[in-house]
Order: sequence, then structure tokens, then C-alpha cells
Amino acid sequence: MSTALPPIEVLPRDLAAYRTGNTGIDYVHRFESGRPGPHVMINGLTHGNEFCGMVAVCHLLDSGVRPKIGTLTLSFANVAAYETFDAAQPFESRLITHNLNRIWSSAWLDGAEDSVELRRAREMRPAVAEAEHILDIHSTSQDVVPFWVYPAFARNAAVASALPRPGVHLVMPAGLGSGTPLIQHGAHSGAEGPGAALVVECGQHFKQATADLAVEVALDFLGHFGLIEREVKPAPTPPRRFELLRTHVIQNASFAFTRPVIGFETFAEGELIATDGPIEIRALCDDCTIFMPARTAIVGREGVYLTKPLA
Ligand SMILES: [Zn+2]
Repeated sequence: MSTALPPIEVLPRDLAAYRTGNTGIDYVHRFESGRPGPHVMINGLTHGNEFCGMVAVCHLLDSGVRPKIGTLTLSFANVAAYETFDAAQPFESRLITHNLNRIWSSAWLDGAEDSVELRRAREMRPAVAEAEHILDIHSTSQDVVPFWVYPAFARNAAVASALPRPGVHLVMPAGLGSGTPLIQHGAHSGAEGPGAALVVECGQHFKQATADLAVEVALDFLGHFGLIEREVKPAPTPPRRFELLRTHVIQNASFAFTRPVIGFETFAEGELIATDGPIEIRALCDDCTIFMPARTAIVGREGVYLTKPLA
């Protein structure tokens, strides 16, 4: 597995100035237009080392964005993990205890366990629950093309397809299989949810191009719903779509891929992709395409997504 550190082109900023919002929840800001319209939420830093979302939300706040219609909520999620960033170990500040993007079920949120992430999810819960349309901005550990990730509901596909970028969609007919992400909290868990709830993976965590894309996608999302003046058209070519078949969660520290991978490699049906102690992870179909391969094997964390290209 790759352990060389990538260059850090985007560094964390001090977010102290954004701490006190106007919602009673730290790092959550809400702007009401006073006119009817959708309630749109743009969230960054669900993972503490995914700086592109921080850059996009800072850009919106710093530029004084105000919705022409409806309501806009802007938030930074896992600031506690973000603040632990260490350039010598830049992948460590993804989370402190729990993956903040897997604990949005009532089982976790109403449960007895405690952690930095559970506390933060419980604090942010009303803001997430109130939003009709959610853009949750992420990035990837490996330098791969940007893509959307969303449950395979028509309300999500319609919005992702109406936006010009990114041109790759990872759809999840059965969810992630490894927990409940923010975009599937509450009313957004089912087909009849109030609106679109999308993750955008903007590229490698620390690249400037990733941050630049996050800003554009956030502006496109706001333009699509009419909150800002911006012309938004779908891409001229149809998206490449993949369906998530299975998420493998690492069981053994010896988890390893059979060859170096970064994501988007394809395997023939039955071909060995990785081993995890005695477990063999094999391709589930022809052209089985992997997403999100782990850089390092951490037991209990996701090792790889197995997907099938859709025609
Ligand atoms: Zn992420």
C-alpha cells in the first residue's frame, strides 16, 4: 500500500472567526432570504482532513453570500478533528474516534455511546434534519477523478445530473452497508425524502484543484436551486455511472491489495482484488471497478468499495 505522503498544496486555516454562528450551534450559519424557496445546506469537513469543503464554505461566508430565495445553511462539521492536523501525518486528522459520516442513524444518535463525533452529530442534528437539499463536500485520499456519491433515489440523480460536474456518479441502491452517512439522516433516508442529498468527492484531499472544484460545485448547487444568480447547465456528455455492490470493512491488519491501486481499477469477475487475513475479496462482476481503496489497513475502517459500471 502507498505510504508516501502527497504534497500539501492547501493548508488548514484558523476557523475561530466562523465559530459563533447564528443558529446556536458552533460553526453553523444560517441565512434567510425572507422569501419562499428551498432550504439548502452546504457542509464541509465531515472528515477533518478534507480541506476542499472548508475552502468552499469559507469562500461562501467570506464573499458574503446571501440567498435570493429560501434559506441557506453553511456548516463546518468535524472542526475538532480538523484542528488536530499534523503535516507529518496528514491522513490522521480524518476523525478522532468515529467516522462522522457513518453515525447518522437514530441507533447511534440516540444511543448511549459518547465521542467527539457523536457529540458533534447530536449538536448538528437539528440543522441537518431541517435542510431540504444537502451538499456534503468531501475529498479522496488518492488522486482520482472527482465523483458524486448518493443513494439511488430519483431526487438525487436528478440534481446530480443537472449539474455540469463532476461527470462520474457512484450510486448506492442499498446504501453504504457500513453505516448511515449524513446525507441519509432522518427524512433523507428514504425515496420520499424532501430533496436532494449528495456527497461530492472533489479529488485528492490536499490539492488546490480539489478546493477549486469544491467552490464551483457549491456555487452550481446554489445556482441550481435559485439561491444565487448563476447559470447552471448539465454537462454536454452523459455521466459515467457506477453502482455500489459491496463495501468491504477491514477485519485484519494484514489487509492488502494484490497490486498497487488508487481507485477506478477494474477486475474480471472472480479475480482476486485484496486479501484480509483468511478473507478473499474478489470481483463480483466483469469490469468490477474499485473505489476508495484504503491507503493503510486500519481494522474497522473501510478497505474498498466494489462497484459495477452501469450502461
Ligand atoms: Zn470524506
